[in-house]
Amino acid sequence: MILNSTINFLLLQPMISMGDVIQLLPDHVANQIAAGEVVQRPASVVKELIENAVDAKANSISLIIKDAGRTLIQVSDDGAGMSVTDLRMAFERHATSKIRTTEDIFSIQTKGFRGEALASIAAVAQVDAVSKRDQDEVATRLIIEGGEVRDQVPRAARTGTSISVKNLFYNVPARRNFLKSNQIELKHIQDEFLRVALAHEAIEFNFYHNDSELYVLKKGNLKQRIIQVFGRKIEPQLVPVAEETEIVSVKGFVGKPESAKKARGEQYFFVNNRFIKNNYLHKAIVDAFEHLLPNQYVPSYFLFLEIDPSKIDINIHPTKTEIKFEDEYAIYAVLRAAVKHALGQYNITPSLDFDQNPDWAFIPSAPKGGTIKAPEIHVDRNYNPFETSANSYKEIQATNDLYKSFSEFELENNHPETILDKADFDSLEINAFQWQNKYIVTHHKGELLIIDQHRAHQLILFEKLKKSSTENALSQRLLFPVEIISNATEISQLKNIETDLFRFGFDVEFTIDQILVNALPTEVEPENVPGIFSDFLTDLELHDKISFEVEIAKILAKNVAIKKGEGLLPEQAKHLAQQLLTLGEPNFSPYGKPVFVQISESEIIKKLN
Ligand code: ADP
Ligand code: MG
Repeated sequence: MILNSTINFLLLQPMISMGDVIQLLPDHVANQIAAGEVVQRPASVVKELIENAVDAKANSISLIIKDAGRTLIQVSDDGAGMSVTDLRMAFERHATSKIRTTEDIFSIQTKGFRGEALASIAAVAQVDAVSKRDQDEVATRLIIEGGEVRDQVPRAARTGTSISVKNLFYNVPARRNFLKSNQIELKHIQDEFLRVALAHEAIEFNFYHNDSELYVLKKGNLKQRIIQVFGRKIEPQLVPVAEETEIVSVKGFVGKPESAKKARGEQYFFVNNRFIKNNYLHKAIVDAFEHLLPNQYVPSYFLFLEIDPSKIDINIHPTKTEIKFEDEYAIYAVLRAAVKHALGQYNITPSLDFDQNPDWAFIPSAPKGGTIKAPEIHVDRNYNPFETSANSYKEIQATNDLYKSFSEFELENNHPETILDKADFDSLEINAFQWQNKYIVTHHKGELLIIDQHRAHQLILFEKLKKSSTENALSQRLLFPVEIISNATEISQLKNIETDLFRFGFDVEFTIDQILVNALPTEVEPENVPGIFSDFLTDLELHDKISFEVEIAKILAKNVAIKKGEGLLPEQAKHLAQQLLTLGEPNFSPYGKPVFVQISESEIIKKLN
């Protein structure tokens, strides 16, 4: 050791012989560098400020942001407040009131303790902080820019603290340019906000973005908080979990299996009220759902673990969403058992139909001025528009008209590389029949084609919708809007694609926890709407899309297309085949799946040998 450093020292000697070159970095530079770890984006500021307010024992916390936090993030609380000196000290690096000795780190009960957040934030923004303790006459206002104190004045204010962070990264253009779209930054902020709000149901939270209200969360119990955040539709899905053991206690809720989604989203796991990501424990929960969920579905959960702070190490990651447990396996086992037990008690059995969207209540609203009837569920998933017995002449005619309009449309918009040219199409007298209520068997250019009816119709609709959205999409206004119960997170996601939706013929309105669909593209039926919106949200969750148009066309086509298992009249089967064969590229569905199988005569001859 000593030898090594001597050698290093000797090796370095020649390079610094010109004179000493090492300097201590000035504080504001050091803070700016340190800020890189703590403040990655507006959401990090939101997290730190809200956590400080919680640590200050606030009863009510309000968050106001502008431009997804780029120009303003303001967090106000009615907590303990700070003295004049403390307010100044709070912005020094490693200044904290939360630990005094190294031992304190191992029994930490507060969110913060590193004493870095405020110093880091102030290094990369313009901060305006006002704070007052109960025992003080007046509040103190402190203005800091790029880590330098600009002003400190007394001022009238209520007890508590309000910190405004303006123009984040104004002095670090590289970081500012690194920020993503407002939509994405806002999503990150919402995530951080909810992670704190869900863990502190006894604190009231308000959240405003650009003067519009995103969340107003009243005090209540955990269940009420979850319902306030995710909407009334989640209530019947919540299964309580409660288990106490010597090493750990588990409480909270898991979603019933049928509310599971493919996209991750509503998975909240807290250790000592701190949001934590831990794949191993996530697996414990998913394991408890064994045989209850199809592949790739993730259950929703809101689970709180209480564990002796000395048995965990939250210090391994600077942003502290990872955690190390002393006895990880035991916790895994307890968690899995607790969830299994809860599901067992509530008689959750694996007889579920995942084609349904039970979380999307479909309730038609009462006509204006009319009498209000109890809401009815109007979704008839078994409804088959092509069912022969139920088909009146009118319905068949309507369907044929629908197909006719497709063919006219396609002929007008003839693709250059269509397999058939226009003349061909006119004389296209093909035979086609439906097989197994799933396939259309037909022939083309001397080959036998077995067409997947669902994928074929999907592709036909997709091409049509894509075109109509760029022209004038036809829209049908509904007498009674379709109402979908939703929540603020989903609504703000959907607002991002509102103009795209409009282009397709949707007219959508939002209340605080509902989506009202007033008009639809002509291709869409009201009963398709809940499924369609559920798919939009899953998709928005999976990809941060700038342009959503193609996605919308895909989702509409998927939801509206003739399903597997639906019977078709011979005329309809033929129309569908004709439609498909006039498409420029009939081979693959919008989701990239093959649409048909081709069998040549030579293959048949070979088999007959
Ligand atoms: P940490 O939270 O890790 O201690 P911070 O930089 O976030 O570090 O805050 C520094 C100190 O400032 C805290 O320890 C606390 O004493 C004080 N402080 C910060 N925010 C508030 C607030 N909203 N109300 C009261 N005191 C606060
Ligand atoms: Mg803090």
